[in-house]
Amino acid sequence: MPRTQETVLEIDLNALKHNFEYLKSRISTHTKFLVVVKAYGYGSDAKEIAEYLQNLEVNYFAVAYTNEGVALRDAGITKPILVLHPQPINYRTLIERCLEPSLYNFNSFNTFLEVALEEKQQNYPIHIKFNTGLNRLGFNEADIEMIHDELESTSSVRVKSIFSHLAASEDLNEKEFTNNQIEAFQTISKTFINTFGYKPMLHLCNTSGVLNYPEAHLDMVRSGIGIYGFGNSEKENKNLIPVATLKSVISQIHTIEKGQTVGYNRAFKSDSKIRTATIPIGHADGIGRQYGNGKGFVTINGKPAYIVGNVCMDMIMVNVTNIDCQEGDEVILFGKQPNAPEFAKTANTISYEIITAISQRVKRLIIK
Ligand SMILES: *Cc1c(COP(=O)(O)O)cnc(C)c1O
Repeated sequence: MPRTQETVLEIDLNALKHNFEYLKSRISTHTKFLVVVKAYGYGSDAKEIAEYLQNLEVNYFAVAYTNEGVALRDAGITKPILVLHPQPINYRTLIERCLEPSLYNFNSFNTFLEVALEEKQQNYPIHIKFNTGLNRLGFNEADIEMIHDELESTSSVRVKSIFSHLAASEDLNEKEFTNNQIEAFQTISKTFINTFGYKPMLHLCNTSGVLNYPEAHLDMVRSGIGIYGFGNSEKENKNLIPVATLKSVISQIHTIEKGQTVGYNRAFKSDSKIRTATIPIGHADGIGRQYGNGKGFVTINGKPAYIVGNVCMDMIMVNVTNIDCQEGDEVILFGKQPNAPEFAKTANTISYEIITAISQRVKRLIIK
């Protein structure tokens, strides 16, 4: 691996394969696997991830919005794509590109039925989402009767799956709550099957559901964060490999005398002579201002160098007083060591937020 000369996000496809195989090993062979590639594949590169996984045994992809699904179709992804939160204004595009909507209330459901009818669709696959406690999106059990009544008079759509989403599957202190969600979904499934007279695909588990609730894998699981290398616990993180590594380089080194200041608004005032390194990555690249002023750190030659002063739009300055380094040296923000959860923790946030925050300005480098 030649050392980097600019800010890059390396995407390790071998790590991706490892994570996929590990997660597959945790489910039974008759459970299908959906990979969530929303938000640019959790900030990595959705097209590369989907292209690579399409040739392994992935059954489904999911994105949040219609335009994300369109981008995957443009990239030649042919597997089924579930759109978790499409807006009705995009239903026509969604149908044109063979994307499958999640419908979660009568507004989304009725509008989709009208569009499917206008577009002369037959048995168009739809997915019905139920609320079991997250209280974000979803129908209730009591709505099943009416959903059924509305579908009786049309063959333009067909319910391919029903699903729900766990609120706290990573938190073992919330086991009772999660078990109640699982039970609620089972009740909903029974009512649905009795009312409709057939069984659609049933799915409930995200990554932590896969890892912590094997009894709830049902017909399919939906994994995002685990595929990218994080298991939401130290134990499970050891079984997975972070796919993305964010790297940069030292542009310039400064000696700061006692009493001098560093960066905008003179937020850092030095009380001794120190050495700083300027790194070409800033809040426009996804390193938020909350990492500034001594909270976040980068790693240079194996040692932590804390951010000095405010994070700028395009740069940070870090304290390298006790680090043997020079201009042109490589800088690690997160990757295998430290990993994204460790990096995110310095700013009181979580892996999901930091990895999806890395902006499109940062070059993606695919490692095969
Ligand atoms: C994002 C999302 C997932 C993936 O969750 P992870 O914790 O990243 O595995 C699964 N299902 C739904 C409905 C989602 O929105």
